[in-house]
Amino acid sequence: MTSSHPWVVGVDLGGSNLRVAVYRDLGAAAASCCAAGTSLAQEPAAVVKRPVGDDRRMESIVERTVACINDVLGQVGVSRVAVVPVGVGVAAMLSDRKGTVANSPHLGWRNVAFGPALARRLGPARPVGVYNDVNAIAYGEFGVGAGAGARDMLCVYVGTGIGGGLVMNGQLVEGATNCAGEIGHVKVAWGEDAAPCNCGQRGCVEAYVGGSYVQARIRRELANGARSLAIDLAGGDASAVNPGHVDAAAADGDPWALALWTELAPLFAVALGNAITLCNPDRVVLGGGMLGRTPTLRDQAVVALSLVTPPALLDPVDIVMATLEDDAGLVGSALLADAGVSLI
Ligand SMILES: [Zn+2]
Repeated sequence: MTSSHPWVVGVDLGGSNLRVAVYRDLGAAAASCCAAGTSLAQEPAAVVKRPVGDDRRMESIVERTVACINDVLGQVGVSRVAVVPVGVGVAAMLSDRKGTVANSPHLGWRNVAFGPALARRLGPARPVGVYNDVNAIAYGEFGVGAGAGARDMLCVYVGTGIGGGLVMNGQLVEGATNCAGEIGHVKVAWGEDAAPCNCGQRGCVEAYVGGSYVQARIRRELANGARSLAIDLAGGDASAVNPGHVDAAAADGDPWALALWTELAPLFAVALGNAITLCNPDRVVLGGGMLGRTPTLRDQAVVALSLVTPPALLDPVDIVMATLEDDAGLVGSALLADAGVSLI
């Protein structure tokens, strides 16, 4: 991880919010983090947050992003001619390293040349890189978070869906079409009975353990009459039960909750164990809203991991929780741009 820029900008373009932050001497902070093997909350020098809004045409988002970038750079007094790399993490599947968005359900984009449009508008003093949001999160955790000091790191984020990012020998692995690390679409079942996934295929681990799928499953089973302590924990309203309630009920020995988690935990473990077997990381960083509120499910998955991962691969792995929370994508995008990854 090398840096030559005193200032660097990170952008987190999500489904709801556009956040832009400017960091000072970020590369040096990451280098000291990495050497010490400890995480560091990296505070931006300036940050702005705006709703993405209803107008999601690519040109409109480009204009809003540029305005926010100019805003934060103005706040810290950076001149228009100083070279400042800009990293953009976007909740999307990309199709190349130039920021072409193949598909972003959050933004309603398909085959949109976002990166080139943004680069044209920003000009040569603002070299820009566009990254998958979970790749940016992974690199943020690697640089200044729970992955600090690791060499080969796998990051798995379970939120509404499941995303992953892979850092090998200190470098983000992007892959031929920028999709490396997409562990959410690793198959854990096959055939006609396998669960359908939003990606169009069946049997993806995301279709079982992704937060929105788990939520739908909970709602369906409770609507069909399943009884559970989770309903009491949700104030007696079955339609209000979320995975956090199910996790607490499972921890309390509730049979329905335990049965559900006992089915799902090994599926997650199979996907994670296969990824560990393929990549041989020394650290696995787990994060995301779904995993953050389901410690019982997480613990069951970690136990199941030992059944599906050869000891030579599992023993050297430190499995830890992400530490940067919402800032991981911002700081990770900035670090990737600072390191010159896929700048256009
Ligand atoms: Zn899928």
